[in-house]
Amino acid sequence: MDNYGGTTRGAGHEEDRDHSAALHECLPAAQWERFVATTGRSGGTFAFVTERLRELAVLDEPDASDPASAHHSVSRISLHQVLSLGLDGILNYDKEFVRYDIHDKGVVCHFADGTTAEADLVVGADGANSRVRSQFLPHAQRIDTGILTVAGKFPLTDETRSLVPARLTEGPNYVLPPRGAGFFTAPHEFDGEAVNDETAEVDPVHFDNTGSYVTWAYGASAKRFPAGLSEMDGSALRAVVAEQIRDWHPGLRRLVANSPAATVSLLPIRTSVPFEAWETGPVTLLGDAVHSMTPFRGIGANTALRDAQLLCRNLIASPDDFGPAVAAYERRMREYGFQAVRASKRSADQFVSDNRVARAMSRGMFAVLGAVPPLKRLAFRKHGND
Ligand SMILES: Cc1cc2nc3c(=O)[nH]c(=O)nc-3n(C[C@H](O)[C@H](O)[C@H](O)COP(=O)(O)OP(=O)(O)OC[C@H]3O[C@@H](n4cnc5c(N)ncnc54)[C@H](O)[C@@H]3O)c2cc1C
Repeated sequence: MDNYGGTTRGAGHEEDRDHSAALHECLPAAQWERFVATTGRSGGTFAFVTERLRELAVLDEPDASDPASAHHSVSRISLHQVLSLGLDGILNYDKEFVRYDIHDKGVVCHFADGTTAEADLVVGADGANSRVRSQFLPHAQRIDTGILTVAGKFPLTDETRSLVPARLTEGPNYVLPPRGAGFFTAPHEFDGEAVNDETAEVDPVHFDNTGSYVTWAYGASAKRFPAGLSEMDGSALRAVVAEQIRDWHPGLRRLVANSPAATVSLLPIRTSVPFEAWETGPVTLLGDAVHSMTPFRGIGANTALRDAQLLCRNLIASPDDFGPAVAAYERRMREYGFQAVRASKRSADQFVSDNRVARAMSRGMFAVLGAVPPLKRLAFRKHGND
């Protein structure tokens, strides 16, 4: 899946298909159908281009004939709605987890409203700032990478399509200027249905859950931005990016200039730091709660889905004894999860590289790969989590 920064599509076709299969395995058939119905088309070719939109390499379009092995683009709200279908009375909203206690017979979770819940196994899937993790593994760190991104969305309507070059609607683009910054764009064409419009939260970034758009993100090291960025509103942030890309291709400049201010936001890039194995017990972690990563490979949610698939499989295979099932899950998850963290950090560093020579070499390398199809196929065959 990708939302933004998702180099998944271009740089990790195989892994992305694996993660679609993970979701397929975890969802009942009816929910899977709804998922497929609500996804957008962000297929098309993935290109590496210069800031003047000169194509360096254009990757082949992935095969989308089988939804369970294809790439999908989905809004967070739609995914959340699909995952919640049929769970009335099982899911509890508005419960803020505060802490847990381990007893002889299991775990007791405490919530902010004073209520408690007992469990044999607690799976902390509470995101990058996980409270479960801070209690369970207090030494686990999450650090600032020193990279800032400003991201926005350009609505694709009959009127606006002509403002941007075809390349920006044909598929995702990884824009490599000579140095110091990176720019990512990805079209999301929604002709699917919204899952449940009446209850959908208002998401200023995703418009009405069904509108098509091109998402973009400009990233650079914090020192390249003016001071006071965190206090700026969308319109001021957009002006900062417009200034930084003032001599880029007019199509890219129009993309930024015509993105509504409400869609433009600042995202400081943070990452977890891989850490040593821990002793398995009745509390475990999944997704960003354990291996949050930079969004530059677009594999955070995909990796969380892989966790869910693996943990479910192991628990189903060993219903009477969670211990070995969880231990096997944690061993494997640490391996691929932290590999993804490292790969995403590398991608983040490359995205904003200040080294003109290294950047020239990258541009040259993509141009060569683009010109020699067998080499290109070899280079991009499996590049997501390495
Ligand atoms: C800008 C951006 C773009 C991204 N693009 C991509 C992409 O293209 N592809 C991709 O694969 N990944 C992408 N990611 C990463 C992806 O969003 C995350 O990896 C994914 O959401 C992790 O899922 P999760 O379930 O572990 O955590 P989350 O999605 O963060 O869910 C955690 C949940 O726990 C709840 N929670 C938190 N604390 C508590 C508490 N104390 N009590 C109760 N509930 C709590 C939260 O409300 C939330 O619902 C992107 C991330 C960002 C920031």
